[in-house]
Amino acid sequence: MSVSVIRRCEDHDGRVYEVDLVSKRCSCGGKSSSQCKHYRWVRDLTEGAKTVNFQVISALHKEIRRGDYARAALWLDWAVKIRGESRVKQYLKSILWEETRNFELHKRWASTRGRSAVDMLDDMVSSTKAFEIPANLGTQVLVNRATYDAVRMPVITPAELGPPGMDELAFYRWFLQYFRLRMAWKTIERLDRFGTLGRGKEEFADMWSTFVSNLIEALRKDGQPVAAEIFAKELPMKGRELLPYHAPQAAIEVLVGLWDSSGNEFKGHPGDLLEVDAVMLPEYALDAHTQAGAARMAKCDRLSPKAGAGLPGNLDLRWSGQLLGVWWRWNAVRTMGNPGYKTAEWTDPPMDPDEYEIAVDVDKFWRKRHPLTARWKPAAV
Ligand SMILES: [Zn+2]
Repeated sequence: MSVSVIRRCEDHDGRVYEVDLVSKRCSCGGKSSSQCKHYRWVRDLTEGAKTVNFQVISALHKEIRRGDYARAALWLDWAVKIRGESRVKQYLKSILWEETRNFELHKRWASTRGRSAVDMLDDMVSSTKAFEIPANLGTQVLVNRATYDAVRMPVITPAELGPPGMDELAFYRWFLQYFRLRMAWKTIERLDRFGTLGRGKEEFADMWSTFVSNLIEALRKDGQPVAAEIFAKELPMKGRELLPYHAPQAAIEVLVGLWDSSGNEFKGHPGDLLEVDAVMLPEYALDAHTQAGAARMAKCDRLSPKAGAGLPGNLDLRWSGQLLGVWWRWNAVRTMGNPGYKTAEWTDPPMDPDEYEIAVDVDKFWRKRHPLTARWKPAAV
């Protein structure tokens, strides 16, 4: 008697195929199992193959951003099978300030014991995304600009920055200071690998803690006691080894008024789940965090993309954490509105060439070696 284990797998075009994991056959046609991409994908997922580990997490993260609960739930299921629930919960916690500015969510997750990964996913998918907050529109342009300036150390007038009505000088000062510290830290981490740094980390930790106390103090003075209390816990370095990544940006945004209470909303979502066991990895899940995506990024860098044109290398960065993608989302929401931006293709929103070029440069900067240290070799020790 033959046994079969059938898994339903959705392809990029929406068609669903039946993969039999025992006979290694797929309903897509007579191809042998080694040639059928559906079979290989479902097999690798089922076996928790090393190669799919990051791809699953990358896809989960993208669907959270897209607000597609059904797809996110499917990836979450695979992620829990492959990584275990507590690691997946930890991952969701780690991206809270990357994806949201939701203080209510932060409160809810103060302790996640007893809260399932599915519940946490529900919380996060239904939460307003950072780039959807009306007060926050345009932020990424300014953030990129401050990074760009921190790299080049130019003298520019604060009047060049910021939408009307906000405190441009405060914004500029805080972000410039923050990015200078981030860049110092990036260099320190690199030098540390050569074992040449000695007291560098200690000195940096002191500078960071001064920056954090100033920021918390400013939040308190500005009448933001809830944020001050939350960020007082989020911003300090953990054991002098880990610099918080997205929380400082969130704190500065709150301080300079790039935040409103819609950041605390949960919008709810349609509850229907997909009626398949797996979906093929979407193209937009391929970014620098996956091997195939990194190869495409390298090609994209070589060919230097232009504003308004498609990306080289079949890249789709609309939902990625690459800064160019982050800027694209902010720009799309700003120019096409919400929810119009959600179905936009890469070339749909109008793009300002200057903003675009700065986003490309800043993106390269964070992904690659610091231009100031690239040619620098430490003396032998
Ligand atoms: Zn197939």
